[in-house]
Amino acid sequence: MAGKPDPQKADPKKPVPAKGQAPDQDAPELEQVLFQGPLFGREANLKAHAKLVQAALVPVKQLISEAFAKRAHTIYMEPREGRVATRFIVDGIPVPVAPVPGPKGMAMIQVVKLLAGLDPNDRKSPHLGGIKAEFDKLTFNLMIDTAPVAGGAEKLRIKLENRKVVRQRPAEVGMPDSMKTKIRNMTSERSGIVLVCGPPDSGTTTLSIVALHCVDPYLYQVFNLADLHGRELINVSDFKPEPGHDMELSFDRILRREADVLFMNPLTSPQDAQTIFRYGEKVAFIMEIPANTPFEALTKVIEWVGIDLVLKNLRCILTQKLIRKLCDDCKQAFRPNPLLLKKLGLPPETTVLYRAPQPPPPDDPKAVTIEELCAPCAGVPYHGRAAAFEMLEITDTMKEVIATNRTADAIRKQMVAEGQTTLQKDAIRLVAQGKTSLEEIQRVFSSGPPKKPPAKAPPRPPGPPK
Ligand SMILES: [Zn+2]
Repeated sequence: MAGKPDPQKADPKKPVPAKGQAPDQDAPELEQVLFQGPLFGREANLKAHAKLVQAALVPVKQLISEAFAKRAHTIYMEPREGRVATRFIVDGIPVPVAPVPGPKGMAMIQVVKLLAGLDPNDRKSPHLGGIKAEFDKLTFNLMIDTAPVAGGAEKLRIKLENRKVVRQRPAEVGMPDSMKTKIRNMTSERSGIVLVCGPPDSGTTTLSIVALHCVDPYLYQVFNLADLHGRELINVSDFKPEPGHDMELSFDRILRREADVLFMNPLTSPQDAQTIFRYGEKVAFIMEIPANTPFEALTKVIEWVGIDLVLKNLRCILTQKLIRKLCDDCKQAFRPNPLLLKKLGLPPETTVLYRAPQPPPPDDPKAVTIEELCAPCAGVPYHGRAAAFEMLEITDTMKEVIATNRTADAIRKQMVAEGQTTLQKDAIRLVAQGKTSLEEIQRVFSSGPPKKPPAKAPPRPPGPPK
């Protein structure tokens, strides 16, 4: 499907060839990305690297344009066996792209760094940067992330983020009202800690911002102490600690300004955790913690601050899983049988669920293929993603389980017994709403969450949020 314009776009206009670039006769309708300078106040010195730019700028443009045309949200380039393996991620699913010869691929990675205002020749340390870009009249931030690999080479990740699509409010990510109300109540008493966790690339930063926006900004004083690298929070004032003030001094100052809720950087050190959990009696906190699951996050904070402070001040741990949505143009309704509904825990009066269109019978050459059936999704037949949520609530009965029998199983059982929202249960909500299929839920949960972040993930230096 290379070169196919995104059918979602209202106006698949004729392409404007980039400056100094001849129109490509093979793919006449492929729109080209425009680079509009680095993010984070950096400068890109293209002139000093003219040779590199000449060799690799056009291929970089083509690669990123193709990624946009295919609705990719992430691009990976990684040197492997003399070539640079390249893949797009579309709605969480890897889509391979033809590998690039080694030297050309390395030059492309260098040009991307250059465009982000990074030093293309420093391959020994991880780098974070960003590029402003425009594609099909929409503005994007390309978030760049490089890390050294064996042999003096480096790998690259580019995240393509639409600057106009700002997901901050519960409704914008489809968070159920009941969950929003719970978080609102938990943070309404100037005390308690809400943690947000999830595997890498699962939208944890967005979810933590959404959790913050569950708080009513007209009733409560909310301050942001996190470094969001240019992302602006709606209705939240930034608080800049005075130079030389440690965390405790800063908290004391904010408390004098009658703060109710504080949004913090991801929790990564026992020292910070201890301070925050102590102050959790005087002010409410919301922040991320690097952990794949709520159970992992719980175990980590107990190690860091001790079980007593955790049971006293932790209110809940949130996580989410992104699940592909069925294409609205070709999803097929079916009437579920009562047995299935019972198994899924859905009300017996549910009359319709949806599934992907069934492939044509293989022995009928005249049958319409799925690709022909639906141009908008080109037969995928999923388009975009929706979040299923999970909230481990630290209720009094849950506290007993945590204190006496702290295993992942026991906590999960207790969550179910208390009717708390689990990922599996909330995914069924998406099925009932007609947003996704049972097959997709099965696929997502059978692959399971990764136990660890990818083995060679670089330590994250301070930089843009995930
Ligand atoms: Zn479709």
